[in-house]
Amino acid sequence: MNWILILALALIVARLAAELWLSRLNQRHVRECATSVPDDLKEVLDPATCAKAVEYTLAKARLGQIQGLWSTGVLLLLLFSGILPLAFGSWSGKAGHSAWAHAAFLLVVVVVFSSTGLPLDWHAQFRLEERFGFNTTTRATWWLDRAKGFLLLWLLAWPLLALILKLVEWIGPGWWLWAWLTMLAFQLAMFFLAPVILLPLFNKFTPLPTGTLRDRLLGLAARTGFRARSIFLMDGSKRSRHSNAFFTGLGRFRRTVLFDTLVQQLTESELEAVLAHEIGHFKLKHVLKMLALSAFGALAGFCIVAWLAGQAWFGQGFGFHTPNVASTLLLAGLLGGTVSFWLSPILNHWSRRHEFEADRFAAEAMGEAGSLIGALRRLNRENLSNPAPHPLYSAFYYSHPTLPEREGALKRLRSGPSHQP
Ligand SMILES: [Zn+2]
Repeated sequence: MNWILILALALIVARLAAELWLSRLNQRHVRECATSVPDDLKEVLDPATCAKAVEYTLAKARLGQIQGLWSTGVLLLLLFSGILPLAFGSWSGKAGHSAWAHAAFLLVVVVVFSSTGLPLDWHAQFRLEERFGFNTTTRATWWLDRAKGFLLLWLLAWPLLALILKLVEWIGPGWWLWAWLTMLAFQLAMFFLAPVILLPLFNKFTPLPTGTLRDRLLGLAARTGFRARSIFLMDGSKRSRHSNAFFTGLGRFRRTVLFDTLVQQLTESELEAVLAHEIGHFKLKHVLKMLALSAFGALAGFCIVAWLAGQAWFGQGFGFHTPNVASTLLLAGLLGGTVSFWLSPILNHWSRRHEFEADRFAAEAMGEAGSLIGALRRLNRENLSNPAPHPLYSAFYYSHPTLPEREGALKRLRSGPSHQP
């Protein structure tokens, strides 16, 4: 085995080991709380709900471990059996070496790789989520979702990938900068168009009917200087009882969306607080910052792929005799997660800071923190959130602070100095 394969193996095993270790640590921590409700959740959960949340957390953790082992096994098979260069050779023999042919090969690998996870995805939806009363997806919807995803992949990702590979032919060594700009333009276009073209393929969006809730929410938008053209209800209940709210799109296509499940679960003032939190993300430029960060990440990614494509040892290490940009993109795509995994605690730390800031914005916009606390408690209960994540586990994986952390910060806000710069 050459050194590049040893390095790849080390990266893959290190990630799997870290995932399994964190999961075990977390499961042990949660199990300790199975017999009694943790002190900081005594007001939120009754013992029966807490026990159910523990059971749900453990069931998800066990399935997550199996999924991790399974996808690692498939990844090892793809990278170490020599099947990729073999398949690439015979594909190119038949389909040729055009950018379109290479791009199609990459997508076929993506489809094959993700198809191997389908049985476990099915189990997660129709066994696990079903068992805890969350699943509302029908078999037909589940298959239709996959079929639509498959079609969109070919309609959108194929031309994009082919264009990127074309840029390599047209421009030569500096291709990566143009590829990055192309990617940015594509992402921006998607950001505008997704709410009007893509999302309606999967869900129904209806304007929130006139009434006290709508008046309240539009009043909040006006008060905070947020231009909300309209507020939409989404039929999230078509797939799950879990609830959510979000913004999508930019400019005139921007949409504020509430899941119908959220509207069923929360009171009007709680819904107003949730929307205030979301407006906080927008007003505090969190959305823009996250977009800038992901653009920077993509630039680094293209830069690394371009460099690796010029290093014969990289592709040859994995059995590609004449490595090219397509095979390098493929290998980098398969291995990228083993490196980015270690960045997730930093990104999540940043995200949690944004959540605290948006909570504070919401409390100030509402003039009180009680409604937001009420909403957070209710959502915690309804979604059977892990009542006692291990601190290391939540630091690594959680994009949102835990309920006691958020409540604590909101209560300090109420009792402490009213305004901080
Ligand atoms: Zn948030």
